Amino acid sequence: MLKIPMSSPDLTAADRQAVMDVINTPVLSLGPRVVEFEKAFCAYTGAAHAVAVNSGTAGLHLCVRAAGIGPGDLVITTPFSFVASTNALLFENAVPVFVDVDERTGNIDVDQVADAVRQIERYLPRKLEHARGTLKALLPVDVFGQPAALDRLTALAREQGLRVIEDSCEALGATYQGRQAGTFGDYGVFAFYPNKQMTTGEGGLIITNDGAAADFMRALRNQGRAPGDTWLSHTYLGYNYRLDEMSAALGCAQLQRLEAMLAKREQVAAWYSARLAELPGIEIPFIAPETSRMSWFVYVIRVKAGLDREALAGRLEARGVPVRPYFLPIHLQPYMVERFGYRAGDFPVTEDLGRRGLALPFSGVMSEAQVETVCEALRLELSAAG
Ligand SMILES: *Cc1c(COP(=O)(O)O)cnc(C)c1O
Repeated sequence: MLKIPMSSPDLTAADRQAVMDVINTPVLSLGPRVVEFEKAFCAYTGAAHAVAVNSGTAGLHLCVRAAGIGPGDLVITTPFSFVASTNALLFENAVPVFVDVDERTGNIDVDQVADAVRQIERYLPRKLEHARGTLKALLPVDVFGQPAALDRLTALAREQGLRVIEDSCEALGATYQGRQAGTFGDYGVFAFYPNKQMTTGEGGLIITNDGAAADFMRALRNQGRAPGDTWLSHTYLGYNYRLDEMSAALGCAQLQRLEAMLAKREQVAAWYSARLAELPGIEIPFIAPETSRMSWFVYVIRVKAGLDREALAGRLEARGVPVRPYFLPIHLQPYMVERFGYRAGDFPVTEDLGRRGLALPFSGVMSEAQVETVCEALRLELSAAG
């Protein structure tokens, strides 16, 4: 039996041709495709400005710079995410202030955010208990393709004068109460690694309605060259976060097919949910009523308390079904423990989800037969375990 891949990009001959067309020109960077890609993203999201970069992480970092977040500044964020959302703050020596998540969605718990905004000192990490930084921003993550409670988060931010950086790297195309993920904050960030809803190989993109911030981020991605700077003059401390032309061309081709690709992913998720909903021992993903459109990034089941996830994962792998624990909590990553003094038990919901979550093979190119193979393996192993 052919091993089912954990994820696969959804690429057509036309997508590949778009890359070839660029390679056959001399302009491989700083050309028209990046501009075209950004325009297409503005059209798709309705944002005034788009800034393409070479990873989602780079995009988050530029937002942190644009928001003026610096050493010692406090930013409320979630420990249940891919590490990049927190690392972007650490790059600037800002302090991520974690708040635990909603048990159902895995997204940051707004009631606790409201509390943290009012008494931030109670939420500071152990080793920085006496930090006297200023709370500058919220950095929510739309986990697994489901938007966070963005209405209340942005209302809180407005009321408190905080910036919002929305990490929508897992949620391109999702909507919250009818409005697109990524458009709620001051800045929204998307990512295009090959397992995301659309890919450019490596890549990312920021959307914002703030023209000055967009100009600043464009300068920073290009080694700090402001408009008018020559190749060797640099107004700001910048980076090379440029997206190349081949990647941008692939992005343009993929974005044109995004709706169709999202629909295929939704179909694959529906095949899973129909088969797994009644299976004892596991729970299927919960979709909140405010999520008017889920943009399926991964399909993560939760094993019920008492069931040994690692043993189940091992037996599924032995049957040729790859699975992955999702997420390992950020606060328990070794460098976070060392730097901030976090301990197991600090964020119980995040840790519980982290212990029970199992991502199944998932992509828009999976067939129903492959989904059935995965589900049959799960049925057999769960009944053996039960
Ligand atoms: C994928 C992802 C990113 C960005 O990842 P890159 O690999 O840098 O493109 C950021 N945050 C979250 C939550 C992600 O899932």
